Amino acid sequence: MQDTRSSALMKRSRKVFPGGVNSPVRSFLSVGGDPIVFEKGLGKHLTSVDGRVFIDFCGSWGPLILGYSQPAVVAAVVHQASKALTFGAPCEAELILAEKLQEWTPGLEMLRFVSSGTEATMSAIRVARAATGRAKFIKFEGCYHGHADCLLVKAGSGLATLGAPSSAGVPAKMTEDTLVASYNSKADVQAFFDKFPNEIAAIIIEPMAANMGLVLPAPGYLQFLRDICTQHKALLIFDEVMTGCRIAKGGAAEAFGVQPDLWTLGKIVGGGLPAAAYGGTAAAMSHVSPLGKAYQAGTLSGNPMAMVAGYQTLLEIEKSNVFENLEALGKTLDRIVAERLGTKIKQGQLCYVRKASFFCFFFGTGTLPTNFTEVAKCDMAQFSKTYAQWLQDGIYMGPSGYEVGFLSNCHEEVDLIHLVDSVLRSC
Ligand code: PLP
Repeated sequence: MQDTRSSALMKRSRKVFPGGVNSPVRSFLSVGGDPIVFEKGLGKHLTSVDGRVFIDFCGSWGPLILGYSQPAVVAAVVHQASKALTFGAPCEAELILAEKLQEWTPGLEMLRFVSSGTEATMSAIRVARAATGRAKFIKFEGCYHGHADCLLVKAGSGLATLGAPSSAGVPAKMTEDTLVASYNSKADVQAFFDKFPNEIAAIIIEPMAANMGLVLPAPGYLQFLRDICTQHKALLIFDEVMTGCRIAKGGAAEAFGVQPDLWTLGKIVGGGLPAAAYGGTAAAMSHVSPLGKAYQAGTLSGNPMAMVAGYQTLLEIEKSNVFENLEALGKTLDRIVAERLGTKIKQGQLCYVRKASFFCFFFGTGTLPTNFTEVAKCDMAQFSKTYAQWLQDGIYMGPSGYEVGFLSNCHEEVDLIHLVDSVLRSC
């Protein structure tokens, strides 16, 4: 089947949107070819405007843990729409979702809803700076925290190097307090605290990195970060925009047994509508305006449509034992990968990693990467080849070798076999 209408729409879109898209990775720049334009999603299936049906493992980059158009979520949104789309004033829906998040996440004493993960991380950094009166913070190479100026920093080339902007339009001044460490490196973090003992406001980390493929924290690493933050009176921020409400009820903090001072949450929190949150200890959050002097606001913050979609998603996760289902499905995927790709894995042609409903294939290496430098050495040309095979076989994934795959509650064993056989065909 040809993507005739899809290609025609992309041609028109390129005249209107930079690169034809409203978020760069959607452009297919790193895998080649034309993006697919979609018309509808139902359960595990996505249908393009040309009527091509794909089994989807992208899940709109994470929110759709229940699959597309989950009936109870859709019903909640429709019901809310009949009452009001937005108030710009307090509503019960925001309180109910916040209290559910607090129940799921011990330590989330106060929070604030915003409309995107970018706003959440930007605000969390602001709060940490306000709470400590310090300017510098540590982030990790390969961790993505949205596109606030101070967070758009790629790795420095060494410990002495302060962050350099990785996007045009970000003045060097905006990132001079951003210190970039290698993921899983204790030495990098220790060196920053040795050099700036009273100047570091926070460490922000994806507690399980899912924006450079999937890279797990080394055993004890998150506890090391917890301890060094406590020792230096800096705040530990877990950016759980990806992992929150997905890896476990209490996110990576629960899964790895380490509690941060601040969290950022997103994706699942809005159930597929634009919502995110930041929060943590009451002591830190009391710095947020109007209680404190750290200003942060939003016209659509706590939007009732997004609040009910998020709340209904969390209810369905509880009601249908989604985490248990997804772990069982994940174990099935592990088995299928071992059976069908085991030889190639032994030969070092690729490797595979999974945690909860996140999974990832790295090509051209037999060893799982532990940081961005190792990820960057993987064979991205082979990823593009595999990606083309996936599309041909009716499988849709995030179009970049630095993204992860997501299992949803709608996937079945047959989908996983199809996915893995497609990888096998491509290499
Ligand atoms: N933090 C993490 C860990 C993310 O994965 C993302 C987006 O993928 C963000 C922050 C930014 O979220 P948003 O795209 O909603 O601004």
